[in-house]
Amino acid sequence: MRIAIQGTHGAFSEMAARRRWPELEPVFCHDFRAVVAAVHDGHADAGILPLENSLIGSVTQTYDLLHEAFEDGVLHLTHEVLLPVQLALHAVPGATLAGIRKVMSHPVALGQCRDWLEKHLPGAELITEWDTAGSAELAARLGDPTVAAIASVPAGERHGLATLATRIEDDATNQTRFLVFARADAELPSARAANGGGPLIHKTSLIITVDHTPGSLASCLQAFAARGVNLTALQSRPERSSPWTYRFYVDIEGARTDHRLVEALDTVEALAANLIVLGSYEAWTEGAVLWSTPRPVPPHYRKKPDMPLFDRRQYPDGTTVQVGSLVFGAKPPVLIAGPCSVEDEEQIITTAVAVAQAGADMLRGGAFKPRTSPYDFQGLGVHGLRLLQEARERTGLPFVTEVMSWEEVPLVAKFSDMLQIGARNMQNFALLRAVGRSGKPVMLKRGAGATVEEWLHAAEYILADGNPNVVLCERGIRTFERATRHTLDLNAVALVRERTHLPVIVDPSHAAGVASLVPALSLGALAAGACGLIVEVHPDPKTAKSDGAQSLDLPTFAELARQVHPDRSARARAAEAWFA
Ligand code: PEP
Ligand code: MN
Repeated sequence: MRIAIQGTHGAFSEMAARRRWPELEPVFCHDFRAVVAAVHDGHADAGILPLENSLIGSVTQTYDLLHEAFEDGVLHLTHEVLLPVQLALHAVPGATLAGIRKVMSHPVALGQCRDWLEKHLPGAELITEWDTAGSAELAARLGDPTVAAIASVPAGERHGLATLATRIEDDATNQTRFLVFARADAELPSARAANGGGPLIHKTSLIITVDHTPGSLASCLQAFAARGVNLTALQSRPERSSPWTYRFYVDIEGARTDHRLVEALDTVEALAANLIVLGSYEAWTEGAVLWSTPRPVPPHYRKKPDMPLFDRRQYPDGTTVQVGSLVFGAKPPVLIAGPCSVEDEEQIITTAVAVAQAGADMLRGGAFKPRTSPYDFQGLGVHGLRLLQEARERTGLPFVTEVMSWEEVPLVAKFSDMLQIGARNMQNFALLRAVGRSGKPVMLKRGAGATVEEWLHAAEYILADGNPNVVLCERGIRTFERATRHTLDLNAVALVRERTHLPVIVDPSHAAGVASLVPALSLGALAAGACGLIVEVHPDPKTAKSDGAQSLDLPTFAELARQVHPDRSARARAAEAWFA
């Protein structure tokens, strides 16, 4: 195995390469460009280049070379190596630290020891050399006891120098990331695995060029996010010939052949002005920070289970979903209350305090609102989420709030206790998958025009992506009857209890569209087997920015809460204690 290395005997590149191929034959090169040429022209089987250092960042020259040298597809990346960088100060035997006037090394190494040099050799002249091991060789040749070199311990020993100080790097975590590359048509001898028996993790490195249009980079990155592909690095470099345009270097977890990456890379290729895949390679895992464990393959690649995951026969006794200390699917029923939309601080806090005192278990309120008309109030967005958080702090009530698009799942999940999928989005499959990956409990509302079968299969999407915490919510369907907003389908409540083990609750507010019907429908729903209710409540329904007609005022809700929890729920007692 001949490996092209920048530097001379004892260079960090050589130490790194030996971590993969202990018996390698080094082909020493003066600079990075010569390393690439040696592999390209077949003078070496592979080459190794430092890409970035954990203290000082990118080796920009390597990034630029990767672009230049990999564009034609002759070369590709094959392995990653992480090397702890431990630096020492060397000089000819007999030299003393006090006598040192000049310190030579590669500029990156000088940068890594800046604090130590300022403290221990404040007046010394710092001299930039082409290589760390090369500076040790030069110090040996000069034979001057006032000149020292910064290099690895093996490099100093190799050139017959005495070590004046070890571990002089400014941060003990200091490490450099190297990439090994070869001709795409060459077979490399197998390398030592980096994971010491742990999971084999691949990374893929890309260069993406995008047009100057809003969202062009974001849409490329979303191609990865949408498929749950983790990014481990993002770096930009200027495009030489056109000022203020950039190339983006992206490292992602996964091998090029993974289904998710194949799809994502196809998408990026279609979106980007240019895409270069530098290669897929075995990541260095020993002593590395591992960001994520490999995620489950998305559901459309899943093997179909013998029986749907939602099927009651999977768990004949039914399952429960927990939100904090609340349990859906058990007694007593969970009572969720709050405004349709979060409108302002006073409105949400007043409502939260009142429903908590009345005995509600959980707060609701929309921050992102699906509205029929684009001219209607669209919700307060992130500000609304912050107000809900404040209401939770004031009352102790957890809250559920709607998330409308998959991109916003991480945001809404960060704030809320439970994610609501609205009726209009019941079959937004990208959104269902994203909440499946979110790890948060989900309330899945039934679409106004969806059959029970479609509703259950929408739940299957979430379950299949690894999230078992799904609560179904019947909220009325569209029928010929126009006297009420929708028609509450109590058939469906009783039926899904037979068909699925998942808990089901009822939203009487959206079903009726009229506040006066809400108490009767609530009690009917519980009688039909619902394990909870979600009810719209507003301190002044007439002035509500959305769904005022169906919102209960505070006293009416308090009366309903008394009927739902005749003995006052444990939660209400806790709320009393909270406010005492
Ligand atoms: C809501 O809960 O305010 C809402 C918009 O509900 P649905 O999705 O059931 O219409
Ligand atoms: Mn509403």
